[in-house]
Amino acid sequence: MSGLSTMCDRGTTAAESGDDEVFDPGSLTKAQVMGDACAVCHTRWPRPRDPLGELPDGTEVYGCAECAEIAADHRRASMFDHMFAAH
Ligand SMILES: [Zn+2]
Repeated sequence: MSGLSTMCDRGTTAAESGDDEVFDPGSLTKAQVMGDACAVCHTRWPRPRDPLGELPDGTEVYGCAECAEIAADHRRASMFDHMFAAH
């Protein structure tokens, strides 16, 4: 019997590390990875300081206030989706 193996699958780490978005470092510029530019819209000033998520290695990824707000709204919306789906 191998029916339990899916519970431990490392492919579902998002659920395990909270609701943080995990960014693909390959799709970000160096400035975005370094936190010098917003991970979404590339804005460098004002310096992005709202955590949007993280890289697979745990490095925090930052965004401008505007994108952080959109991301938070999106997270809230998908959370509600999950809640409704559960009922
Ligand atoms: Zn932005």
